[in-house]
Amino acid sequence: MPVIELTQNVFLFKTSDLSCNAFLIKGKEKNVLIDSGTITSMKPHTEFLKELNLRADDISLILHTHGHYDHFQADKLYEKAKFFLSEFDSKHLEQENPEFTRRTKEPFFYPKINSYLKENQVIEVNPFSLKVISTPGHTKGSICFYEENKKMLFSGYTLFFHTIGRTDLQSGSFSEIKNSIQKLSELEIEFLFPGHGKVIQGLKENQENFKFVKANFF
Ligand SMILES: [Zn+2]
Repeated sequence: MPVIELTQNVFLFKTSDLSCNAFLIKGKEKNVLIDSGTITSMKPHTEFLKELNLRADDISLILHTHGHYDHFQADKLYEKAKFFLSEFDSKHLEQENPEFTRRTKEPFFYPKINSYLKENQVIEVNPFSLKVISTPGHTKGSICFYEENKKMLFSGYTLFFHTIGRTDLQSGSFSEIKNSIQKLSELEIEFLFPGHGKVIQGLKENQENFKFVKANFF
């Protein structure tokens, strides 16, 4: 499968159904990934990068939507990158908590988290500005990234096309994910880039998705 350019300088790295959607943001000074994937997605990632004339070492930062294994295992490929994640989920990675991270069979890779992402923090990836929105529910430290000018929302495992993230895992909460989705629905969204499944394009389409989700899950 080739790499998909979703909008200018934003690419989807889609590998297998077991791995999450990873997004590459090509900035003027640096390249940033949102989530990486499972160990098996390292090989397709290498191919995607080659297609874009990039190497793994050209990625300087990986932002994580939450601390489940299928979002950070492929960090291993990116030896020059810094790894950012919310404080709550980071603590579980630092403690190598197998239940929280949903650790799979060996070998297993825990990245060293360089910085904790905080609500309203803005990560500049010129010309993109990614604002951290705290969205507990799938995990307590789950976050989304919102780009206000382009109206792009990277929703992790909080919101998908016609569905929401599961809340039955450690630190998950249905009432929290409801509040989080309510908070997201107040944003203007032209592009929804979820951590799994298809992307949603269009203001109207995104409003309809919120309507569908609220009617069917709340
Ligand atoms: Zn997850």
